[in-house]
Amino acid sequence: MFRLSNLIASVIEDKPERTLNGAIAIWNFTNRCNLSCMHCYSKSTLDEVDTLTTEQIKKTILEMKENGVKFIIFSGGEPLTRKDLFEIADFCKDNGIITYLSSNGLYFTTKNVQQIVDTFNYVGISIDGDEETHDHFRGLKGAFRETLKAVLLANSTGAKVGIRFTITKETINSLEYIFDLVEKHNIPKIYISHLVYSGRGLDNLKMDLTKEQRRTSVEFILKKAFEYYNTGRDIEIVTGNMEQDAILFLDEFSKHYPELKSKMRERLVKWGGNSAGRNLLNINSEGDVRPDPFFPITVGNIIKSDFGSIWKHGELLDQLRVHPRKISGICADCEQIDICNGGSRARAYAITGDLWSEDPSCYLTEQERRMN
Ligand code: SF4
Repeated sequence: MFRLSNLIASVIEDKPERTLNGAIAIWNFTNRCNLSCMHCYSKSTLDEVDTLTTEQIKKTILEMKENGVKFIIFSGGEPLTRKDLFEIADFCKDNGIITYLSSNGLYFTTKNVQQIVDTFNYVGISIDGDEETHDHFRGLKGAFRETLKAVLLANSTGAKVGIRFTITKETINSLEYIFDLVEKHNIPKIYISHLVYSGRGLDNLKMDLTKEQRRTSVEFILKKAFEYYNTGRDIEIVTGNMEQDAILFLDEFSKHYPELKSKMRERLVKWGGNSAGRNLLNINSEGDVRPDPFFPITVGNIIKSDFGSIWKHGELLDQLRVHPRKISGICADCEQIDICNGGSRARAYAITGDLWSEDPSCYLTEQERRMN
C-alpha cells in the first residue's frame, strides 16, 4: 500500500510517518460471496463452504501475534458471510491486532452497521465506478445502489470509512466520478487498486490498463493528492499493487517542494516498495499462506503447520526479503529499485513464468528510472 497523502503531510510538516512495526496479513476467511466480480482473485461464489474453523483461526491468530503480525485485513469472498466474523475480529482486538474489513457492503444494515464500525478499526467498501460500470463489473444489477447505501450508512456513524476502487479498462472512465463521489459525501479515504493478474483478474488480463492509461490515471490521482493537501481537504488517498506510483509521485513532489526531495526519497526507500513476503502475507480460505494474495506459490498451510514455522524463513521468503530484490530485465539496472523493489512478482510470473523477471506493468520512462 502506498499512502501518498500521509507521506505528503508527514514530510512537509516534518512529522514522523505512521508506521507499523510488524507485518500485515490479508486473510481471505471465506471464499463465499454474493457477487461474481470480473477482477476477483478468489473466483468466489455463493456456494462455497468454509474450510477453516473458528478454533483453527484463533490458534493461528495467537501464532501470528507471536511472529510479529500487527494488522489483519479481513477479506474474502465476502467476509460478512461468515457467522463467526465478529468473534474473530474481537479476538484480534483482545490480542492487540488492528483489524480492517474489506467488504462489498451488501450485508450492511441499519441494525448491524454500528457493530461493524465498532468492531473494525477501518471499513473499506468496494465501488468500481458509476452505477452502470459498477453493476456490470460486479455482475449484479442494483449492486451500486446497495453498496453506496452501505458506504453512506457506515460514514454516518463518524467511523473511518473508505471506498476501494479497482482501476481497469472497464472502470477507468469512472476515475474522476469516484473522486467526485468521495468529495460529495465527505468519505475520509479512497483506495485505488491496480490490477494484478490472478484469479478472475488473470482470466481478464485484457482488461488491464495500457501503460499510457496507467500513467494518465496515476497523474490524475497525484494531482488530487496535492490538491487535497493544499486545500486542507481531509481525504486520504492510498494506491495499491503498483509500487512504481511512488517514483512518479517523487517526481511530482519534487516539482512542488524541491528542497524536500531528498527527505521524501529517504522516506520512500524506508517504505521499501513491494513488501510481499517481507511484511505482507496472505492466508486464503483453505489456510494456504502466500507472500501476497496474488502470489502463484504457497509457502505453507496453517492446518498442517504452525504459522511461525511457515513465516520465519524459507527459500522463497528469504529471497523476497532481500532489499532491493534481484530482478532481471529493465529492473536490473533501474536506479529506483530501492524505492519500488521491482514491483509485483505475481504479475511478472503471470506474464513470463519467471518470478524474478521485470514487472510487465512498469510504466516509467527510461529517464524516470534514473535518479535525477
Ligand atoms: S524498472 Fe523495475 S525497479 Fe524500476 S521502477 Fe520499474 S518495476 Fe520498479
